[in-house]
This record gives sequence, structure tokens and C-alpha cells, in this order.
Amino acid sequence: MPNTDATKANLEAQLAELGERQQRIAQDLAEPLNADSSEQAVELEDDASLEAQAALVAREIASVNRALLRMENGTYGECVRCGDAIAPKRLEARPEAALCIACASTEQ
Ligand SMILES: [Zn+2]
Repeated sequence: MPNTDATKANLEAQLAELGERQQRIAQDLAEPLNADSSEQAVELEDDASLEAQAALVAREIASVNRALLRMENGTYGECVRCGDAIAPKRLEARPEAALCIACASTEQ
């Protein structure tokens, strides 16, 4: 089982970075709209894309947290669906991966 301290440190660093990104997005969203109505349209569009980004970041945070939890439970590196080992190369590229390549490809 590829349960190494390095991977855990990696996931924790990822989590910290995601948290910072989430904060920056929240700050941008909290900025009041420009009084100029033509500017407002642009800012509202920006807000929509910020909200989409925020949703994405929240999902990434959840999946990194689940990976850390699997590490604690000793199931890290196993596919959560079929229980097979996830290829080490895949975990290297995406340490938070919860599915093996076969399951991930049927997920889409
Ligand atoms: Zn699988």
C-alpha cells in the first residue's frame, strides 16, 4: 500500500493551497458591485465564474479530505468502488484519486 508520509504531506499542502484559493474567491465575491451599471454587468459575469470556481474548489477540498481519511483508515490507494489497487502512477499524478482507472473511466 503506497501509504507514505510524503503523500500525506502532499495532500495536506494541496489542502492548504485550496483553502487559500477558496478564501481569495470569497473575498472577490464579497466586493461590492460598481455603482456604474455598465460595469455591473461585467462584474456579475465575473461573479458567476467565481461561483463556479468556488464550487470546483469546494469539490476538490472534499476529495482531498476523503483521501486523507482513507489514509487514516488504511484504505488509501484502494479503489473505493471495486477495491482494486489504484495504479501508483495514477496516485502520483492525482494523490486524491478515489477510483482506479477502470472505474474512473466508467464514471464519466
Ligand atoms: Zn475500481
